[in-house]
Amino acid sequence: MSGVLGVTLRGMEALPVEVEVEITGGLLAISIVGMPDVAIRESRERVRAALRSVGINLRGRVSVNLAPADIPKEGALLDLPIALGMLKASGNLTQCPKALYMGELALDGRLRRVRGAVPAAFLARSLNIPLYVPSENAEEVALVQGVEAYCADSLAELAMMLTGAEEPKPVPPVHVGEIDEAADPDFADIKGQLAARRAAEIAAAGHHNLLLVGSPGSGKTLIARAIAGILPPLTDEELVETILVRSTLGMDTKPTRQRPFRIVHFTASTVSVCGGGNHLRPGEVSLAHRGVLFLDEYTEFKRDLTESLRAPIEDGVITVSRAAGTVTYPSRVLLILAANPCACGYNGDPVIPCKCSSLDIERYKRKLSGPIMDRIDLQINVPRLTPEELLSFSNKAEAPESSAEIRKRVIKARKIQQERWKEFNLVCNAEVPEKLVKRYLILPEDSRAYLANMAGKLNLSGRGLSRVLKVSRTIADLAGEEEISKKHLAEALMYRQGYGRR
Ligand SMILES: [Zn+2]
Repeated sequence: MSGVLGVTLRGMEALPVEVEVEITGGLLAISIVGMPDVAIRESRERVRAALRSVGINLRGRVSVNLAPADIPKEGALLDLPIALGMLKASGNLTQCPKALYMGELALDGRLRRVRGAVPAAFLARSLNIPLYVPSENAEEVALVQGVEAYCADSLAELAMMLTGAEEPKPVPPVHVGEIDEAADPDFADIKGQLAARRAAEIAAAGHHNLLLVGSPGSGKTLIARAIAGILPPLTDEELVETILVRSTLGMDTKPTRQRPFRIVHFTASTVSVCGGGNHLRPGEVSLAHRGVLFLDEYTEFKRDLTESLRAPIEDGVITVSRAAGTVTYPSRVLLILAANPCACGYNGDPVIPCKCSSLDIERYKRKLSGPIMDRIDLQINVPRLTPEELLSFSNKAEAPESSAEIRKRVIKARKIQQERWKEFNLVCNAEVPEKLVKRYLILPEDSRAYLANMAGKLNLSGRGLSRVLKVSRTIADLAGEEEISKKHLAEALMYRQGYGRR
């Protein structure tokens, strides 16, 4: 018997799998136990062909045992440790140090990129053993600090490294550049929409969830996308978190400090948004982790989908339970919703008349409630520009302010917040729990009287009131002011009026 360690994935976690190979006399037959049938067939053929490519023709009865038997395994990730186990058991590999090995084999022996190299790197680090991956996985593995990792292009190259015929090739360090000066889309390209631009800046600065209400063609999606470009760059730690999700899904893992932006359409399934399914994979809300999750046409979303998004948006993590087990994924997102102002879409439009009755409009506004609407701090109208306005904006000499300029103010406001909340391990105003709001967001006397008066007039709930306080704190932070003044409160209150008011 000769054990080689490989990995399999459960949700976003890598689990060790021990590959044991035994070869006895007789006609060639390969049996693998501990893996689903389809995966066995495919893996067996790839491994056999790859061994032939390095000049090894297996003889005898080859029994491969994958332990523990009770966890489901993916064939592709285990090709490499199975091949190494066979080389070792057949006396063709004299040394195979204790390490984690992962990789899919091509028929010609090349090592192919696999999903899950980042979770595997975390596992190798916790087991305190080296990790060997295909060269195509090197970049994502290099992002994980404190792991001893090597990469190879092919089975032959790896065998030479293990036996000392070649120097082991450490994964090269990765340089993550700063985010591009010009964002795509950039606020410099968005004409007019001064109120929406302002709300976008506040949303980004304090991490406040935002609702955009406007007719089709008013540019809600463009504004939502542009918000991702004014958020502060990802920190090293946050970057690894986002790459971990992408690595688990086998997606492109090119490291960037640009925050993710994901659109969810109302036709999406709960599994695709929240994660789960047979393979317990993360969903859109986790792909948007540390970035923006955009729900377009919010009023069309089914209630069960918005209901299942409530906890992940509130808690920043999502727990998925299936027959295959229970797993947790990250889901700390800035939520942006977009909706039409009415069923026909043109209530308040400067050109196209609205076909809805006032009753229709009331009924429609009621759709703008529900499980995640009370997680929204800011609401703003995004009017469609008239042709005259579009022309007058394009005639103006100076271009609107760029995303890079806005981002500088956002970063400055975030620094103030981090400093304020550091003892509570919070980074922005929106995250602050209600009991801390009461204790730490204290208003000067005149502001207090003003807010009490307005809260009565607007019939604000306790929760609504604390949202107003948090938003006004962010507005004051953007202005670099220590005290929350009446002016800051008045602006924050403005973002609570209109749709879905509470
Ligand atoms: Zn209408």
